[in-house]
Amino acid sequence: MDKKRRALLQAGMIAGGTGAFALGYADPVNKAVKGLLNGTSGVPTNDRIAGNALQPEFMVTPDNELVMGENQVVSPVQCFGCWTQCGLRARVDTQANKIIRIAGNPYHPLSNTHAPAQETPVREVFTQLAGESGINNRSTACARGAALGEQLQSPYRLTQIMNRAGKRGEGKWQTISFEQLIKEVVEGGDLFGEGHVEGLAAIRDIDTPVDANNPEYGPKANQLLVTNAGDEGRDSFLKRFTFNSYGTRNFGHHGGYCGFGYRAGAGAVFNPDLKKFAHGKPDWDNARFVLCIGTSPAQAGNPFKRQGRQLAEARSDGKLDYVVVAPTLPNSISRLNENRGHWVPIKPATDDALAMALIRWLIENEGINLDYLAQPGPAAQARAKQPSHANATHLVIQAPHPEAGRFLTAADLNMGDTDTHLVVDASNGELMAHTQARPAKLWVMRTVNINGVPTEVKSSLQCLKESAQRHTLAQYSERCGVSESIIAGLGQELKRHGTKASVDAHGGMMSGNAFYTAFAVITLNTLLGNINAKGGLAPGAGGVAGVEGGPRYDLMNFDGKIGPKGLFLSRNRFAYENSSEYQRKVAAGESPYPSRAPWYTFSSPLLTEHLAAAFGGYPYRLKAWISHMTNPLYGIGGAQAFLGEKLKDPAQLPLFIAIDGFINETTALADYIVPDTLTYESWGFTKPWSGVPQKTTTARWPVVTPATPRLENGDYVGLESFIIAVAKKMNLPGYGDNVISDHKGNKHGLHTSSDFYLRAAANLAFANNDPVPDASADDLMLTNAARMMPLIKDTLATDEQRKVGFVLSRGGRFAPFASGWEDELMNSRINTTLCIWNETVGSITHSMTGEKLLGCAAEYGPRFADGSPMRAHYSEQDWPLLVTSYKSHIMSSSSIGAERLRMIHPENPISINRKDAERAGIKHGQGVRLTTPGGQIEGIALVRDGIVEGAIAIEHGYGHTELGARAHELDGKPMAANPRLGAGVNQNLLGLMDPTRKDVANVWLDWTSGAAVRQGLPAKIEAM
Ligand code: SF4
Repeated sequence: MDKKRRALLQAGMIAGGTGAFALGYADPVNKAVKGLLNGTSGVPTNDRIAGNALQPEFMVTPDNELVMGENQVVSPVQCFGCWTQCGLRARVDTQANKIIRIAGNPYHPLSNTHAPAQETPVREVFTQLAGESGINNRSTACARGAALGEQLQSPYRLTQIMNRAGKRGEGKWQTISFEQLIKEVVEGGDLFGEGHVEGLAAIRDIDTPVDANNPEYGPKANQLLVTNAGDEGRDSFLKRFTFNSYGTRNFGHHGGYCGFGYRAGAGAVFNPDLKKFAHGKPDWDNARFVLCIGTSPAQAGNPFKRQGRQLAEARSDGKLDYVVVAPTLPNSISRLNENRGHWVPIKPATDDALAMALIRWLIENEGINLDYLAQPGPAAQARAKQPSHANATHLVIQAPHPEAGRFLTAADLNMGDTDTHLVVDASNGELMAHTQARPAKLWVMRTVNINGVPTEVKSSLQCLKESAQRHTLAQYSERCGVSESIIAGLGQELKRHGTKASVDAHGGMMSGNAFYTAFAVITLNTLLGNINAKGGLAPGAGGVAGVEGGPRYDLMNFDGKIGPKGLFLSRNRFAYENSSEYQRKVAAGESPYPSRAPWYTFSSPLLTEHLAAAFGGYPYRLKAWISHMTNPLYGIGGAQAFLGEKLKDPAQLPLFIAIDGFINETTALADYIVPDTLTYESWGFTKPWSGVPQKTTTARWPVVTPATPRLENGDYVGLESFIIAVAKKMNLPGYGDNVISDHKGNKHGLHTSSDFYLRAAANLAFANNDPVPDASADDLMLTNAARMMPLIKDTLATDEQRKVGFVLSRGGRFAPFASGWEDELMNSRINTTLCIWNETVGSITHSMTGEKLLGCAAEYGPRFADGSPMRAHYSEQDWPLLVTSYKSHIMSSSSIGAERLRMIHPENPISINRKDAERAGIKHGQGVRLTTPGGQIEGIALVRDGIVEGAIAIEHGYGHTELGARAHELDGKPMAANPRLGAGVNQNLLGLMDPTRKDVANVWLDWTSGAAVRQGLPAKIEAM
């Protein structure tokens, strides 16, 4: 390297700061310099220009012929680097059984925004990846997705079945056989010399109530909790066992501490009954203005990689303007295109104030879509040619009527049934059914007679207006730190672009008022009338239907199938008023409020509450937990201190079985660990969460042989083999011979994972009465789907085999690109009545406060479970700062073991605004101590202007104590460990307990939805 270049490099390092960055990047820079001079290990490189880079995955000759590398194939895989779950392609060395490179699956819309038709032969698609055409057709993985293949050979990976050889959490393990594992967990016994432990067989009592005084809690079998991280393609298999064979009600996943606040708020707009939590994403291909609040495309969100690519394309084409509202400057904002994208800084956890300010501004400045909102039902929507319709004109019964919060129905006034809502006809002011094909009045306040009682009713839009007008724009501005002129500017842009504008959100909503914040943000879209519109907010198209219960095999129904009964451990989806506890209090003449702890009437099951509920015995205690890849102790604020200590005590939870590829912060406390197959070794079917307008189902299959032990039946140790073996040992229905019916009435066995997933693949191949074509021998050979053909031939009917080969060779089934739109509408549309007022929410009485919830968007600010404001407990004087988290575009919560990622981004400093740092005497790169009422962490200060004053920001994914950061012992020998995996800080160690939950304690959760709180933690900071 010449002197000038070296001097530049050194100067760059100095300019970058001698603190965090110099420390963090010194090693990679050293290696880079050494590599430039001498090759990466001090020896000359293979090639002067390409260094030791791999040979290309394939070459295209001047005659346009594709030539594959020797002993190499390129197989489709599914990434699990984040919840986007992109379809990728893995270059596999078939002799070494090793993945050597990962890039994007060109067929897959999450990796290629203009993917070719699935019918295009594999050879043709691969050829298009090369040369000049490769630039247009390139399909990529993000940095994380490209690096995670190395997890297969990670030294921290588990490949042995282990049980603990010491106390829980001590880090001492011993290997055991599969047979011993199954025997012990099913039969129980004195497993650890600590007394008798009930096995899964004894716990499964599906007849006896778990609590005779509270029969609504359901049977004793509910004392088994089964969790997974989320649906990474194996959900249907695991739920089939949990609900329909074992019969426990309790299944949980990470949603409660990921983005549930957002999903609940979006669900309140999309789903009147809140039985589902639909959401949408901007139609980036056609949008003209996107306002992102608490989510930053190209930095995070879902679909992360696809949105980043779409954003880059749209702003480069000059079609799109966008604004990201966040406490920290996100990657989405580029100086290269600063006229297109803008950052609006906001104080943490105050997005509800901004959203309500925008609602108020739009209402008061003719910014709402009156023609759209005036259509009360599907008939009026069709007549007015609107993309969807909302309940803006439906009439809400007001207090003091005992059923305040629900809609006025035709039955109330003897005009019809209870399904028909009443609205005011815009043409004559008379009441009419919402089903009429006419517009209705938007602003209504009037009195009607219900059973002879004069009752006030207001239109939904009137209720929303009153909610927005509870504060002035100046007050909202003061609260969120966004000036009134910027609020007006954002309102103007939304108004100007109308249905080509949209407002998006995601994990940034996880504050102490998460649900109402997200409800307010998504309501902005309803007011614009953009939902289902091309260029507006697009509901996801979802997957191709029928994978589980499809046209060829019925995988979900079997003889002896049962359904779960009783109350979820997290007290969700059940009204407190229907509980025996409530009835007893009322019968005793007591006030039924508050309940002992919150009941989350409209929420999905919450892993944020499951464990605290079990430890508090409210509603009941747990006896066993099967955890598949869940890590709540790392992911829930305050959980490590509170739940971790309890989990260490077997008396609190007698049996804890983990299934995972690694030891994480939670599974470190398990009694047994079953090593799991990783994503490239396992089967699974997933669909995009949202943000893909074409129907898409990803099919993953083992492209390499699993590293876990092989069983006698040819399967490998992992989730499926464990569940099947447990079920067979217990003689549970649905496992063994003759339990899967095909479309001709024949029965098939379920003994191995492929028995289940290959039949699911056949369903996918034949879905929609539109079977895919047969795969060619060339398709199978190039992708190595040929590797699966012997198993396919043993399992499936002849006419299914090549079609399943087609699905495997493409990595799924994908609708054509053009199918995403129909004229000026999205092709996949939501057909429910969108809620300005959500009647389900508006009819709920909060179990702690005893107050009716508001059925529309509102600003409450961060609160605790009893409804008291956070600042009433932790004053600004004592805790002047607010901590916020943001997603890393490099690291996820479980990827720290990937060395290539740590080389790029080894740790996460603590971001602080320059003025706050000056006040606290903190210099850039200095060690700091950050304290909240719930915990303390120490890290390196990153002093910057790219963070709003008063905030502290921490990037998620670091500060691990496990995953390889701590040394464990297996059979008396140390397991691989590297303290560098513990680099940086974990914001969740700062999480608070809820000081108002005196009886059944838990960490701070959103007061209505139960989502974890990680935005806006009160804090103080000091230099070290
Ligand atoms: S966005 Fe990146 S890490 Fe996430 S699934 Fe896609 S490739 Fe993997």
